[in-house]
Amino acid sequence: MRGIHPIKLAGSVTKSWTYFRHARWKGRRQCPRCGYRLLYYLRDERFGCKRCRYKFGEFTRTYLGEFYFSLDTLTHLLYLYALGVPAYRIRFYVPLSLATIERSFRIFRQSIYDESLQKLKELKKLSGEIEIDEALFGGHRKGSKRGWGAEGKTLVFGIYQRNGKVITFPVSDRKHDTLIPLIKLHTKKGSLYYTDDHTAYATLDLIGKHQIIAHGMEEYVRENTTHINGIEGFWSYAKTWLYHYRDVPRQYFHLYLKK
Ligand SMILES: [Zn+2]
Repeated sequence: MRGIHPIKLAGSVTKSWTYFRHARWKGRRQCPRCGYRLLYYLRDERFGCKRCRYKFGEFTRTYLGEFYFSLDTLTHLLYLYALGVPAYRIRFYVPLSLATIERSFRIFRQSIYDESLQKLKELKKLSGEIEIDEALFGGHRKGSKRGWGAEGKTLVFGIYQRNGKVITFPVSDRKHDTLIPLIKLHTKKGSLYYTDDHTAYATLDLIGKHQIIAHGMEEYVRENTTHINGIEGFWSYAKTWLYHYRDVPRQYFHLYLKK
């Protein structure tokens, strides 16, 4: 699912059918099992391979093949999903059960996550002025525990290139051995790193220039254009967006963040 916004697709079932079919086959339908191109047509709109006899549908072995309802319902669902409408409200607009909608959303997220991982592999290393920060998402507000180590929260690590991209990772902790390898992997040596005074970042001056922005220095920071506004702006955006999803089961959380 790449290259077109779901909102555009939702307008026309023919258009979405053509789009998805092309995304799947790139104009050349072939056996998904052995790659053979000579096929025969089955009565139920599926295909059979003339070499290995494998029978398959238009979207077998893709995420789309996991949906068992009509394509117009699916494009409608994608449209609502893209708008950020929560599942419990969508069930009034499409003829599907809440469980089916939630399952569909997990498939959407999984596909988005897979594609993000793919993009991450292709992504050039970030360089120049780089801001690094961590933020906590989710969890319940009940109880008195706050801040780092609070139960049920997900720790997310972000690397932000000024005027460029943000890469985020769910991480298990904020230790040196967790964060530094990610920085090394995704940024060019010799970059200028802006961080807070968290000790995990203490060795950053070994791989580039390191500027520490201490918390509580915002006034000073604003005057001198040396700030972590970029990534904090991103966090606050992400948190607003995630507000609707605060009861997300933990195992699916990373999928939301990759949207
Ligand atoms: Zn085959």
